[in-house]
Amino acid sequence: MRVERGRIRSGGRRERSRARRLAMFDFLIVGAGLSGCTLAERLANELQARVLVVEKRSHVGGNAYDAYDDNGVLVHKYGAHLFHTNDWEVYGYLSQFTEWRFYMHRVLTWVDGQLLPFPISLETLNQLYGLSLTTEEMEAFLARRRESREINNSEDMIISQVGRELYEKFFANYTLKQWGMPASELEPEVCARVPVRFNRDLHYFADRYQGMPKQGYTRMIERMLAHPNIKVLLNTDFEEIRHLIPYKSLIYTGPIDEYFHHKHGPLPYRSLRFEFETLDQEFFQPVCVVNYPNHFDYTRILEMKHATGQQCRATTIVREYPQAQGEPFYPVPARRNSELYRKYAAEAEGLTDVYFVGRLGQYRYLNMDQAVRAALDLFQRIRAQGR
Ligand code: UDP
Repeated sequence: MRVERGRIRSGGRRERSRARRLAMFDFLIVGAGLSGCTLAERLANELQARVLVVEKRSHVGGNAYDAYDDNGVLVHKYGAHLFHTNDWEVYGYLSQFTEWRFYMHRVLTWVDGQLLPFPISLETLNQLYGLSLTTEEMEAFLARRRESREINNSEDMIISQVGRELYEKFFANYTLKQWGMPASELEPEVCARVPVRFNRDLHYFADRYQGMPKQGYTRMIERMLAHPNIKVLLNTDFEEIRHLIPYKSLIYTGPIDEYFHHKHGPLPYRSLRFEFETLDQEFFQPVCVVNYPNHFDYTRILEMKHATGQQCRATTIVREYPQAQGEPFYPVPARRNSELYRKYAAEAEGLTDVYFVGRLGQYRYLNMDQAVRAALDLFQRIRAQGR
């Protein structure tokens, strides 16, 4: 697609509204992650809308982007993405664009010199303390340790379930590294993402549908975008084209505070740095993810071959280092941030024909399935409005 910059000038309001009437695109979508691409697909296929997706990076897929590295190993460039959902509709929707490889995610954690199953389960406690508890005995074991308290934050959440000692071993330092703040300052939902299991189930997620797109996320997302009405402009910052390309409605999946030029102050995000290393051996570790709550500056080591099922001689591992600066990966779920976000959300409600969606657009710690669900719901809203 060619966009001739000089021809559409960013003139005054009247000029812009004329440009809107003549718009060559019904929707301008900012961001080619799962949220943006779900909307692009729905709008083009269901409403025959003309859609332009503008993406700052050099590829589609957002943080779910995967690609083969120089050694031929399929890696997730922005950290492990494991698909899991109980949302039948979301699963069915994505299944139009991919087949799935059966995969149930497993995580181990390095605590007290042992690799233990995580989340905390019967198996974890038995290995950690050299016990052979039954489910009932585990209940009693934790009942003696847990502290009943009002749950105002993530520390309360974990201590009320398993007590302080296990909190310190498994959660306190990991959370501090991951978020740059103690669990006591984070909303309860952050650590509540990780369940406690009273059985021997070693899997990370309990969702009904779990798996990996057979040919990867990038391939799945490319199929979503494969419609003649969808144009994609890569390597393009929305700010550069904001007033150059006429469109009728805008769907914004970038950071909501950035859209408003941080007028109420910047919302905090947590970023990650990834250190990739390829090793000339089939596997480095026994499972896809190993957490390091109490050692090293990184939080975890990922080895995607376990999840992708790729068979090749070499393996690539990734160490994940959380950091404050850099590309925004996570909104930071703390009360003061929600209050700031609400100011931006109120501004957003005052706009017509502008919609905010996705992890950064909604400033919510959404999983992939929740991001797709939010996009499908927004599509229904747009359709109902007769846009
Ligand atoms: N967490 C922890 N120890 C662990 C794993 C997770 O304390 O070994 C906490 C941490 O605060 C993390 C949160 O639980 O941010 C949610 O974990 P999850 O694995 O869902 O994080 P994600 O994969 O989304 O980064």
